[in-house]
Amino acid sequence: MSLDNYQKKYLEAMGLSYWEVRPGFFAETISQTTGSAESVEAESTLSEMSAKEIDTTNVSATPARSVLQADAEIPIKPNMAEKWEMLARKVSHCQQCELHKTRSNTVFGVGNHAADCLVIGEAPGADEDRQGEPFVGRAGKLLDEMLFALGFKREQVFIANILKCRPPNNRDPRAEEVINCNPFLQQQIKLIMPKVILSVGRISAQNLLKSKETIGRLRGKTHYFGEQNIPLIATYHPAYLLRSPLAKRKSWQDLLQVLKLLHKQ
Ligand code: URA
Repeated sequence: MSLDNYQKKYLEAMGLSYWEVRPGFFAETISQTTGSAESVEAESTLSEMSAKEIDTTNVSATPARSVLQADAEIPIKPNMAEKWEMLARKVSHCQQCELHKTRSNTVFGVGNHAADCLVIGEAPGADEDRQGEPFVGRAGKLLDEMLFALGFKREQVFIANILKCRPPNNRDPRAEEVINCNPFLQQQIKLIMPKVILSVGRISAQNLLKSKETIGRLRGKTHYFGEQNIPLIATYHPAYLLRSPLAKRKSWQDLLQVLKLLHKQ
């Protein structure tokens, strides 16, 4: 007689050890000692021992069973730090699109996991690809200044991108790359649950808002992102502001709107 899994768990929970006959043991023994009475007797003794060990008539089965079931069924919920770690690991191993072949590093995102403000850019450039961190080039310096104007140090917000890998020659992300990468960003948004999303640049805004409008049309109003309805402000990309400093005035208006939304809540 062999023990089923429930019986084994039951015995383990009671601190009882059990042992079982290795499958095929008797077939081997019988073929070696053809027709031997001892082997047949041995089999019945072993069976009896198993049967005795699982005899539950003297124990109250109910509490033990419920404890065992609870043990088996309680899902172990990872805490926030573990969730972030698991997500970062998935991103670093991702090979869902061609970009993994040309990247030096994935760029997961950096900052405060409980940030009020989540900044979302387009995709890593050459500097970001080299360093594995978003917005570290010239545009990144300007982004830092924009954040500073809002009263934030870089490490107080979270900074991420639509794509986690650099498109070669900084070309625009392709639709399939965005689709493959999107679950990572969605999970980051769910984990952070920021008060406001600041979307920088056309690619970021168009993808987050599922729109084909220009950034000039998407900026200047408050949108609401996803089923979580997170207020979202779109503004110009800092790389564009470096080329077109006159647009900084409009960008400042967008940042003031971010401030308003942050202080509203
Ligand atoms: N531009 C972006 O959109 N993201 C970066 O990380 C760097 C430059």
